[in-house]
Amino acid sequence: MSLPTYGEVYAKAAEGSPFSNSTEGDAWITNNCQRCIHDKPARNDDYENACPILGVAYCGKTPAEWMRKEGFRLGDQYTCLFFRDENDGGPDEPTPVPDPPGQLTLCPREPFERPGRMFADTKPQEVSVRG
Ligand code: SF4
Repeated sequence: MSLPTYGEVYAKAAEGSPFSNSTEGDAWITNNCQRCIHDKPARNDDYENACPILGVAYCGKTPAEWMRKEGFRLGDQYTCLFFRDENDGGPDEPTPVPDPPGQLTLCPREPFERPGRMFADTKPQEVSVRG
């Protein structure tokens, strides 16, 4: 799944900043974008390839790719549909799963594929077991 362009994100974004103040923004960006593979270039001073979704948020609009969560917890106000932990190697299977070779299709798949997928944090988590 590839990121949308800056123009695509901007066109769908809602008017108004996603955060009430810089503390809210810093907390969310630290918890998400600063460990996301899509803004890794910016962390290496390659701003040309920085995340376009975050770029739109910096311009004072709320990206449609950010789903607002119920309630309020500082640093956890939104779920970004494109978040991917920089240590996540990705799924084993290519997405979308390609058609089998020689398979006849009645209609093209592309118009029916969703532009984004809801991603939970896919980084392996350590858990403890209480006996
Ligand atoms: S894809 Fe989402 S979480 Fe990742 S850097 Fe962009 S805005 Fe942040």
